[in-house]
Amino acid sequence: MKKSKKRVIENIQILDFAAEGKCIVKDDGEVIFVEGSNVCPGDEVKLLVSKTKKNFSEGRILAINKYSSDRIEPFCEHFGVCGGCKWQHIPYEKQLEQKQKQVYDQLTRIGKVKLPAFTPILGSESTKFYRNKLEYTFSNSRWLTAEEVASGDEISKDALGFHIPKRFEKVLPIKKCFLQGDPSNAIRDFFTDYAHQSGLPFYDHVVHKGFFRNVMIRTTSTGEVMVVLQVADDSQENIKAVLDKFIEKFPKTTSLNYFINQKRNDSYFDLEPVNYYGLPYITEEMEGLKFRIGVKSFYQTNSDQAYNLYKIVRDFAQISDNDLVYDLYTGTGTIANFVAKKAKKVVGIEYIDAAVDDAKINSEINDIHNTSFFAGDMAKIFTDDFITQNGKPDIVIVDPPRAGMDRPVCELLLKISPKRIVYVSCNPATQARDIEILSAKYEVEKINPVDMFPHTFHVENVASLVLKD
Ligand code: SAH
Repeated sequence: MKKSKKRVIENIQILDFAAEGKCIVKDDGEVIFVEGSNVCPGDEVKLLVSKTKKNFSEGRILAINKYSSDRIEPFCEHFGVCGGCKWQHIPYEKQLEQKQKQVYDQLTRIGKVKLPAFTPILGSESTKFYRNKLEYTFSNSRWLTAEEVASGDEISKDALGFHIPKRFEKVLPIKKCFLQGDPSNAIRDFFTDYAHQSGLPFYDHVVHKGFFRNVMIRTTSTGEVMVVLQVADDSQENIKAVLDKFIEKFPKTTSLNYFINQKRNDSYFDLEPVNYYGLPYITEEMEGLKFRIGVKSFYQTNSDQAYNLYKIVRDFAQISDNDLVYDLYTGTGTIANFVAKKAKKVVGIEYIDAAVDDAKINSEINDIHNTSFFAGDMAKIFTDDFITQNGKPDIVIVDPPRAGMDRPVCELLLKISPKRIVYVSCNPATQARDIEILSAKYEVEKINPVDMFPHTFHVENVASLVLKD
């Protein structure tokens, strides 16, 4: 039943979660989606119904009248303001249940293909300090919390912390972040203190002036630490002063680097990093395999869960000695190198040149000689000609970005018909769409969702597809 008016509903219960962190409310049969990261099913809220579409409406929560009994106490003092771990108020078991359900719903509603029983979602053993990479931003436009505004105190406008969602110039200063283990918090505090004491300006994101812009911290399970400072001017004296002081305080840092960024955006992909101290990379390890991670390299941000994810992929792929394996969207070749020992040969394809260089280095340093990597846009490079030159794969592993695979990629997969496709996805909606296309020749054999990001609504899913008889 559809009502067509914008209206306020004084008190209504949040029914359930939906995809992408939204929640569902039902008013007399009308389905209303609301931005729901700060609510919990069972909460009673005051709601503005703002848009009515053909099959559903959209709304905005104006106030929470009553908390659900399912809620738990968030562990971080920045909860509710920070864009990070938005599901801290939901018990972890419920988060997992919800993620599993999301995968199921998307695969059945969008994909409409026959599904096997799911292997229950694999939760992350660590639900705190699970990330190996964080980026903090300097800003001269600090976000003030409601209490700070009310206090009337004189507070510095400078901050080092995380961007406030949808307010790019505003930064929330972070006191303690539960996402990355030691020495991440201490490193951030060093830069906050140093920047304040030095008098060098925190970056102004509106007029694009200042000195300190951004700091990235990377850690590994082997204890290595990489720090990358981004500054806006090339004053060697100022750069040297801060980095020397940093090394004095954190002598165990294995890789200290900086960027001089005079562009209007923080992205460093088109900049050259300068290695100041230690090596220009850190090295992660997995089952004795080494993965070299450069300043600009991609690496899965939850290392422990990445290992679990790769084991599921390897298990689902059932590779034997004679198999030619393709790893599409290979990134820095982590999966390709991880499964190489089992295969006759692995061919990886990836968009970013630098990632392909990393993938090759990762084969080299591990003495892996049966891989080859190619750079290019998948739809352009993964073609009939490519197959003629590199051989018809027996098994294909794909791990595309959120947008999923381009149609021609799915069509070529159907045409060359490998006996098995293992599809790793960070977006079950596009995975469902692609699986439906592939279902012309494939059936879904196994499904195993994995939680890489506790306290967020993000979910990863692995599906294996086998060629129908
Ligand atoms: N399997 C990798 C991660 C893959 S993330 C790992 O576990 O480390 C997805 C990758 O797809 C990214 O590296 C991205 O650069 C690449 N990519 C995105 N669009 C692409 C395209 N059109 N063609 C080729 N590669 C693409």
